[in-house]
Order: sequence, then structure tokens, then C-alpha cells
Amino acid sequence: MHFHDSMISLVGNTPLVRLNNVTKGLKATVLAKVEYFNPGGSVKDRIALRMIEAAEASGELRPGGTIVEPTSGNTGVGLAIVAQQKGYKCVFVCPDKVSTDKINVLRAYGAEVVVCPTAVDPEHPDSYYNVSDRLVREIPDAWKPDQYSNPNNPLSHYHSTGPELWEQTEGKITHFVTGIGTGGTISGTGGYLKEVSGGKVKVVGADPEGSVYSGGSGRPYLVEGVGEDFWPTAYDRNVTDDIVAVSDKDSFQMTRRLAKEEGLLVGGSCGMAVVAALRVAEGLGPDDVVVVLLPDSGRGYMSKIFSDEWMNDYGFLEEAGDQPRVGDVLRRKEGGEL
Ligand code: PMP
Repeated sequence: MHFHDSMISLVGNTPLVRLNNVTKGLKATVLAKVEYFNPGGSVKDRIALRMIEAAEASGELRPGGTIVEPTSGNTGVGLAIVAQQKGYKCVFVCPDKVSTDKINVLRAYGAEVVVCPTAVDPEHPDSYYNVSDRLVREIPDAWKPDQYSNPNNPLSHYHSTGPELWEQTEGKITHFVTGIGTGGTISGTGGYLKEVSGGKVKVVGADPEGSVYSGGSGRPYLVEGVGEDFWPTAYDRNVTDDIVAVSDKDSFQMTRRLAKEEGLLVGGSCGMAVVAALRVAEGLGPDDVVVVLLPDSGRGYMSKIFSDEWMNDYGFLEEAGDQPRVGDVLRRKEGGEL
């Protein structure tokens, strides 16, 4: 019989797929590491598994314990899946700007979600940061993974994502491009690839315009999961050779092209990373192999990136080359507008 013990054993070993259409005119091979094939639908399953197993080994997480983390997205899903399979409870703390769909996903996996007001200072007792600290103090056997400072975040990539890419490309990878959020993916994967290649693999970070990693001050941008307004300890700046800053508009237009032209329904940080990867590939030759990591699926962004209304509100569809949809044209015709 061929089966997996549980969903946990499906974490990692994600496929590498060549990009064939958005890469037209480029000589280098551009390959995408498609992380939505993880059981929780994102790259964050990898860090959830390693952070939990390390905390079990160190005794920080005891049987029947509770995992408390301020997260609203992918990390929460990964932690919730691993936790339920191993018999732990999860309490996640989110700001109230998070969509009910995202909160309901976490609840569907059995997690408890505490929603905090966004409109208060970080020092306020009801702020998202203070509430999670208070819950850790008050809940018996509580443990906070803290992905921004937990060394097992980058280590999970050093031990899984990095070796997978080296094997999948048979050591031919020349460039690795990925977005930077906590910095775990770039530090761990990039660190491994640099080590195994004797420093030959170039590691490039993709960053939303305005974020500190590309020299910004933390100005707001709309791409989710990447960029910061502070420097997390999970990020090892020495691994990164170069940073490419990408606008929201370019990120979202590329995200839509990936769905239409490559069959990849992925999130906004994936579009951003691909824009950076194509800029890197522009100057390269036929022997170069650029790998770009795509962290999550597009399913969580249907009412944003994949909504024409939302995209139009921000002016992101202009010059996108999008044709009017047949349905819209027909409706306008019927209404006598054309
Ligand atoms: N994209 C998305 C959608 C994410 O959730 C994250 C994680 N915050 C990243 C990219 C960046 O990964 P990392 O935290 O490892 O830098």
C-alpha cells in the first residue's frame, strides 16, 4: 500500500517548473519552485514543522501545550496543521484589518483566533503584539514560535529548500531569487546554495518598493507577506548579493500573467519575485539557471489581485494590455452603451 502517515509527511519536496511564456526573449532558463504544493498551501509549512519539532526536542513545547503566535496568514495555517496532528492547541492573534476569509481558514483548521484593534499604538495593552505576549504569560504551557527571530525558520530552508534545489537542478542553479519577509527563505536556502556551490550561486532578494530591505523607510505597499519596516534577526544580510525593488503594479500585473500564461494561480509576492527574476535573467546567457521561489497560492487573493474592480481602484490595470472581457462588452451592448 502506498500512503503517507499524515499530511505532515507531505511538507516540502515541491516541484520545480520551467516558466515558458513570461520569459520570452530571454536566453537563461527560469525555473519556479512552486510552494503551494505544500499541504497548507505555502512555503510556511516548512518552518512550522521545524520550529515545532525543535521546540519539542528542547522541551519548550510540552505535550498538550498551546502554540501562540501573532500571525494571520500562511505561517498560521502551517502551524495549525502540524499542531493538530501532534495534539497541540493553537491561538493566533491578528489585527482587525485581516479579512474574515483568512480568519475562517485558521478556525477551519481548529485554531482559536483573537482579533485585536489596528487603530491603537504598539504599546497599547490591546495591541496585536501586547495581546500575544500576555497570552503567552497567561496560558499554561504556552509557547511562541516567533518566526522573526526563531533560528529554525532559516534552518528549515537550509535543511530542505536548499538541498532540494541543488538536487533538482543537478547543481546547475546559478541564481536564486526570492522575496524577503522574515528573511528565513533567503537566508536558509541562499546560505545552503552558497555553501554547496563554493559561493558560485548568486542570491537575489525581491522587495516591495518602500520596504527597508531595498532602502525604503517602510512606506505602505500592498504586496502581502514580504518587505518590512524593521530588520528581523531571522534575516542574514550577508547571504544576499543584490536586492531588486518591485512596485505593487508590476508585482500584481505579473501575478495575473502567471495565472493566464503559465497556469500558475499564485499570490502577489510570487509575481513580485518573478519580476525580479526576469530582471536578473535579462543579462544572462543560455547556461544560466535562475530559480525563483513562489511562496503561496492565488486562492487567498481572489477579491484583490484577481478582481478587476480592486485592481482598477488602484490604477493597476492601466497599460496592462488586458482586453475587455467578452461578458462586459456584451452587457454594455445590451445596455445600449456601444
Ligand atoms: N510571500 C508570502 C506570501 C509570505 O507569506 C512570506 C512569509 N512572510 C514570504 C513571501 C517571505 O518569506 P520569508 O518570511 O521566509 O522571508
